[in-house]
Amino acid sequence: MKRPVAQEAIALRSPAGAIDADLHCHSRISDGMLEPAAIVQRAHEHGVELLALTDHDHLGGLAQAREEAARRGIEFVAGVEISVTWGAETIHVLGLRIDPASTPLAAGLARTRDGRDARAREIGEQLARVGIDGAYAGAQRHVTNAAMVGRAHFARFLVEAGVCDDVREVFRNYLVEGKPGWVPHRWASLEDAVGWILGAGGVAVLAHPARYRISETALWALISAFRDLGGSGIEVVCGGHSPDEQRRFADCALEFGMRASRGSDFHGPGESHVDFGQLPRLPESLVPVWIDWPESQRALDRSQGEAVRDR
Ligand code: AMP
Ligand code: MN
Ligand code: MN
Ligand code: MN
Repeated sequence: MKRPVAQEAIALRSPAGAIDADLHCHSRISDGMLEPAAIVQRAHEHGVELLALTDHDHLGGLAQAREEAARRGIEFVAGVEISVTWGAETIHVLGLRIDPASTPLAAGLARTRDGRDARAREIGEQLARVGIDGAYAGAQRHVTNAAMVGRAHFARFLVEAGVCDDVREVFRNYLVEGKPGWVPHRWASLEDAVGWILGAGGVAVLAHPARYRISETALWALISAFRDLGGSGIEVVCGGHSPDEQRRFADCALEFGMRASRGSDFHGPGESHVDFGQLPRLPESLVPVWIDWPESQRALDRSQGEAVRDR
């Protein structure tokens, strides 16, 4: 496939890639461990200049996060991470710079998270069958937002109960396909998720593509379908990607002529691979998804202002 030379040329001229943009993280509104305001505070203290809060299937933390960002002087865009079922696979699609007041988006997300509680009860029943009692109630103790009980809450319970040493061990031995506590679930369709994001004026980004357990061919089909629906970015640099995986998806973004995103996928201190401010920059050959956002220009202006004051 031909490389989009014009886009590369823009990227090389733009200083936007130098901003510390972190466009993927979670608060207690979904399965993160901190309040939205505390997320913003932590990101700011770790040097993030442009932040998106992207809770799973929920917009409830955005107002608090935006307010805190304004108070601290860190650029903020509203985000969401939508759970999608594509074929038999669960895929995550980030919606960035969305309008949280969009009714179709809010309604679609409400439908998407419907069924989480029933699924959680089934997870609890399955775990009881292998001798782990009280998992549903135990997971609930880690839940702030009753609508959003998920596997991360079960994982925290299983660590607390001494079943596993850490959350990573949980996701090797429980809650995943073929292991106790795996309950298949149908989320939103790819078409609907991208449609809701675009309808809310946002940019759709395929989250952590290296994490899907699908063949190379299926991955290409997924990215093609995503792009054809109006998806514009691939998360190239993220907490869940190794350096090799970052290189692989940097090439992939160039081949597909798509923009690139960067996000820690931070969930909580001590639990996430990567904290705020620790990710490598996007490779210079890529076009950042935030290249033409007014927030990114403002972040640049801020950092230049600071440089002038520091002189
Ligand atoms: P759910 O939406 O309820 O299926 O939960 C998905 C969430 O589980 C992800 O967003 C992560 O927070 C967490 N998760 C899934 N797999 C892993 C893993 N291998 N290691 C750590 N956390 C994981
Ligand atoms: Mn999560
Ligand atoms: Mn995800
Ligand atoms: Mn995430």
